[in-house]
Amino acid sequence: MITFYPGPSKVYDEVGQYLQEAVESGVISANHRSGSFMQMMEETISNLKSKLDVPADYEVYFVSSATECWEIIAQSLISVPSLHIYNGAFGEKWMEYTQKLTSGASGLSFDMNELPDLPFASKLSGSEVICLTHNETSNGTALPAGFLESLRSEGDNLIAVDATSSMAGVVLPWQSADIWYASVQKCFGLPAGMGVMIVSPKAIERAEEIGEKKHYNSLLFIRENFLKNQTPFTPNTLCIYLLNKIMQQVKPISEVAEQTKLRSAGWYRFLSSNKYNPLVKNEAARSETVIAVTNTPQKITEIKEAARKNGITLGNGYGKHKDTSFRIANFPAISDQEIAALQYFLAEMARKQ
Ligand SMILES: *Cc1c(COP(=O)(O)O)cnc(C)c1O
Repeated sequence: MITFYPGPSKVYDEVGQYLQEAVESGVISANHRSGSFMQMMEETISNLKSKLDVPADYEVYFVSSATECWEIIAQSLISVPSLHIYNGAFGEKWMEYTQKLTSGASGLSFDMNELPDLPFASKLSGSEVICLTHNETSNGTALPAGFLESLRSEGDNLIAVDATSSMAGVVLPWQSADIWYASVQKCFGLPAGMGVMIVSPKAIERAEEIGEKKHYNSLLFIRENFLKNQTPFTPNTLCIYLLNKIMQQVKPISEVAEQTKLRSAGWYRFLSSNKYNPLVKNEAARSETVIAVTNTPQKITEIKEAARKNGITLGNGYGKHKDTSFRIANFPAISDQEIAALQYFLAEMARKQ
């Protein structure tokens, strides 16, 4: 079976071999306060920062998921109501959780075929943290390059970005935001079960001002442990091991991103020349890493079923687009041969219509 599911998604081919090596190395049986664990943590963070080109003064933490980051941000970084700018299900869910955990979080939603409006200045002034979804996995949109830079220049708010389905697949403008997070089961090409959180010195400063330390996953408590290359709770050591291996293996992010861009352009070209309709009509709003295709519920079912019979898993639609779309992950771990196989299948399907 080849899978184009946008998370959990295809893992890098080498993961099988690394799993074996992980067992043989003994580190996955080691205590998470031991020297061998701490050394691995330090190496993993250093490899990640180097391959993804993360600014030296930003800190990297491993947590259990992207969803956990919604909670960490709400409890440790929001003291004045946050503003959530979103166009799809993940951004909206993040806002809803934040509303449960804090009071007064507000939302500014925009149409998936539009780009979020600037300037926001009047709306920004009252809020401390602005929450954005870099790549909205539910509908296949992404914030255009340059948007975060422009937003950054509008004020001195903390900016938090859900980059779950784009981090490690595209170049991110790190300096234009303070909190970035993702899960490893998407562009990192790893088995599910860990989140990566990357924070700026300004975010750390804010966390210190707020001083929240009531939870096992309070940001300050996480940080205190990571400064010693440890974690507040027993972590997913295996996933950290695998992440280290993958970060050693992959090309620098600029090269990975170039491949993502070329492949996504190829995908959109392929779809339009084979009479498939991308869910997102506005080209400027389209994601490079998650491609959503729309059709009638009947056709969507038919295509997914036929794909499955051909050994290919397509991503289901998500949220309100559940029945009227399927999604194709364009993540780095997917091979050219796999893409060619899916395109061959889709072209055949189109020909039969
Ligand atoms: C997948 C995804 C999440 C949730 O990730 P978990 O690992 O399940 O916590 C959150 N936001 C976006 C944009 C996603 O794509």
